Amino acid sequence: MRLADRVIVVTGGGSGIGAATVQRLADEGAVTVSFDLDEQRASASQPALGLACDVTDEASVSAALDAVIERYGRLDGAVLNAGIALEVPLTETTLDQWNRVIGVNLTGAFLVAKHAVSRMPDGGSLVFHASMSGLVATADEPAYCASKAGVLGLSRAIAVDYAKAGIRSNAVCPGVVDTPMTREQFAPHPEFRTAVEGMHPAGRFARPTEIAAATAYLLSDDASFVTGSELVVDGGYTAR
Ligand code: NAD
Repeated sequence: MRLADRVIVVTGGGSGIGAATVQRLADEGAVTVSFDLDEQRASASQPALGLACDVTDEASVSAALDAVIERYGRLDGAVLNAGIALEVPLTETTLDQWNRVIGVNLTGAFLVAKHAVSRMPDGGSLVFHASMSGLVATADEPAYCASKAGVLGLSRAIAVDYAKAGIRSNAVCPGVVDTPMTREQFAPHPEFRTAVEGMHPAGRFARPTEIAAATAYLLSDDASFVTGSELVVDGGYTAR
């Protein structure tokens, strides 16, 4: 129960890693609030309260965080998890695709971080779900890699600027995780999935619960002196 009674928001909490995170934080005693594109999706991951929030829309982010404060009286942390994938080579990436990926993955993380930090006057903790693709290039994902490298810079900047305010900011960098996002990506190419699994020395993709466990640690007081860090959870992919 490392997170007993802490009020923690998880963006993109309705699916995959976000849903597993909501469950893990609740198991550790947190009051979790899931933000997702619509209320039904946000509420999919019980026992969280689900709120509709589009992380690319500043008014929507601000209103959802106000609703959390109104209901629970405070905010102790946020998991900046909402994200989308795009596997398109550089010269075929349209400006719309680029803007969409940067908009959700990086600008969305910025907006939620900005409005969460301003609602945590007594300190708190942010955990960004970045990716190993923010550390090393993964093939044919230039927009995605750039968005996740940007998230790592944002997380570090917040760590430095808000350490004295008692706010810690860290990132988790998963390898490939078995979620609806990657199932959809690999569905047309089962042989490619097997090859990418093999690129992880562990020989498999991560389970969403394995990412959630790292996030719970970073949110907890066990990580009280950990800020500005990247916790790589990739089965050894980037160790090669
Ligand atoms: P997913 O597609 O299963 O879930 C993503 C969730 O984000 C969905 O519920 C979706 O509705 C929500 N979302 C999308 N756009 C949103 C928006 N504008 N506002 C609010 N919510 C929005 O994805 P996942 O695989 O669970 O990935 C979660 C995060 O982890 C992403 O940031 C992803 O980039 C990152 N990640 C995933 C993997 C992987 O292999 N699955 C690896 C490394 C990092």
